Amino acid sequence: MSDWVEFHRDEAHIRRERAKARELRKTPYFQEQFRKGICYYCKEKFPPEELTLDHIVPVVRGGRSTRGNMVVCCRNCNAAKRCMTPAEQILAEAERKTAEQEP
Ligand SMILES: [Zn+2]
Repeated sequence: MSDWVEFHRDEAHIRRERAKARELRKTPYFQEQFRKGICYYCKEKFPPEELTLDHIVPVVRGGRSTRGNMVVCCRNCNAAKRCMTPAEQILAEAERKTAEQEP
């Protein structure tokens, strides 16, 4: 599926947005999200040190470090998501379900 889209890496964009993400992480809003400890994807509760800050639309795919594009999630969900966009995750999930149904 990764061959459907061209990965156009813009190193300057990635560096800039990752630096911005580090700053955003320190803001009261995200500190509060870490303290609450609820993973955005699986809705489970985790201690703050097991949570990561995730870009819904990944930086490597052109996503930006804004409050709307960033969520707190657990390491498992972050790893499962990798660098897919929300639409690609839905497709990947659908593909997985189809594969499960095949004998
Ligand atoms: Zn999770």
